[in-house]
Amino acid sequence: MDYVKQLVLKSGYVDADIINTPEGEKNLKVAVACLAGIVALAIYLAAGSASPPKKVLESPEVTLSTTEPHAMLPTITDWHRMRLVDKTALSHNTNLYVFEIPRPAGHVKGVHPEPVLGLPIGQHISVSAEIDGKNIVRSYTPTTLDGEDPGRFHLLVKAYEKGNISRYLSLLTVGQDVKIKGPKGKFTYTRDLADHLLMIAGGTGITPMYQIIKASLADDKDTTQIRLVYANVNEDDILLRKELDDLQAQSNGRFQVYYVLNNAPTGWTGGQGFITRDMIERYMPDGGVAARGKVLMCGPPPMMGAMKGHLEGIGYPKANTISKLEDQVFLF
Ligand SMILES: Cc1cc2nc3c(=O)[nH]c(=O)nc-3n(C[C@H](O)[C@H](O)[C@H](O)COP(=O)(O)OP(=O)(O)OC[C@H]3O[C@@H](n4cnc5c(N)ncnc54)[C@H](O)[C@@H]3O)c2cc1C
Repeated sequence: MDYVKQLVLKSGYVDADIINTPEGEKNLKVAVACLAGIVALAIYLAAGSASPPKKVLESPEVTLSTTEPHAMLPTITDWHRMRLVDKTALSHNTNLYVFEIPRPAGHVKGVHPEPVLGLPIGQHISVSAEIDGKNIVRSYTPTTLDGEDPGRFHLLVKAYEKGNISRYLSLLTVGQDVKIKGPKGKFTYTRDLADHLLMIAGGTGITPMYQIIKASLADDKDTTQIRLVYANVNEDDILLRKELDDLQAQSNGRFQVYYVLNNAPTGWTGGQGFITRDMIERYMPDGGVAARGKVLMCGPPPMMGAMKGHLEGIGYPKANTISKLEDQVFLF
């Protein structure tokens, strides 16, 4: 403090007889403490302004190729709005919805290929909407493969009168947006997954099967044998019938479909009533329950319950509540 006192006296601003009193010394100590505080604050502020600016969160950068289409879904983590560009009634309760895949920033039409969803084969997307103040989410499997309808994808959805999302979709008009997220699901189809696929589908449960059948048959290195047992109430309810028949005709025997109807018309040559254990056994691999054979199922819960019972009776392992890719019986 003596050194500080000498500095102050040297400056000539304060007289020695003022500073050399007890009151003067006390004031000097307070002044020094205040000065130290001001200097510390100045150093802190200067250090803050000198540090690099905080990084702003940016959306993922997309490098666009002129040969490979941009795959949209794997690069997004949140809900994305997609525009309905076409809607066609396929039956009294089922519509085909066509959605446009948003082009990424920097995309030049004609220079860059049209974007694709980038959904692994066998996986699905989630559709969400706020209905009566609640956020409702449901799963849907596109019926188109990447690039099949450039820049767009298709959903085939059966509307239920008291349904939430299926009804919401049925009331949409062309030009409106829908919230979509994906990919979702534990099943990813690859040509080496199995030697034989036995598919059991009911109603709109056909959509994941159709996607897998198309992808498998389009791959000339794929030798998987595929059998589909497809149940509906009435003949008019059979979805994608022409497409399935065409795929069967062009498959060189690799794919066979067997239709089962609750209400079969006169002269119907397919199955009648519910799918039975006998029908399943007819479409299993030749040697019975084979290690390289998988069963894929998608349909209304009561039907799925009955099918699980048939499969266990035949000797298949019990299906897990949530299926995993390695399971022999996979329920979508
Ligand atoms: C992996 C996966 C993929 C799917 N893909 C498709 C697809 O491509 N196309 C498609 O149309 N659906 C598909 N679904 C079914 C779809 O997710 C919904 O369950 C369906 O659209 C009904 O939803 P919702 O919100 O309209 O009805 P919800 O609100 O779930 O149900 C309300 C009411 O609707 C009626 N209802 C709903 N579902 C059924 C049913 N299956 N049978 C009888 N009555 C019913 C009942 O009266 C029910 O009480 C898929 C499901 C899964 C798990």
